Amino acid sequence: MDVRELYQEVILDHSRRPRNFGTLGSGARQAEGANPLCGDQLTVYLQVEGDVIRDVRFEGSGCAISTASASLMTEAVKGKKVADTLELFEQFHDVVTSAPADDITTAGIGKLAALAGVREFPMRVKCASLAWHTLRAALDDRSDRVSTE
Ligand code: ZN
Repeated sequence: MDVRELYQEVILDHSRRPRNFGTLGSGARQAEGANPLCGDQLTVYLQVEGDVIRDVRFEGSGCAISTASASLMTEAVKGKKVADTLELFEQFHDVVTSAPADDITTAGIGKLAALAGVREFPMRVKCASLAWHTLRAALDDRSDRVSTE
């Protein structure tokens, strides 16, 4: 299987026109993440009210997979409860880190299923999960930089 087969329509669309790209004003939580192996870097901004993610943005630069994953992540978690977001991260993480031969269910993760193919490529798993690790750091309001290494 060629890496290009990963670049399905959804991934291409979100990498070319990332949703929720930008920053949030003062008072927003934020965290930075980096995937040194690929050179992906991003910052996630969060507006949390009570236990709900009211708004989320990201900026940075990276490969198509990391950008598409960050874009899909922002769409998936906007308006979600923090607990449901962490649950979704777990489900997504299970899918992308499963063995290629494993049966997986992507029913619970919606459009994020477009990234399921990265489980064939360990290097790409880090590209796909960077946004989520960074999101979790922002939720924890951690100021240290998240690295996949
Ligand atoms: Zn990457």
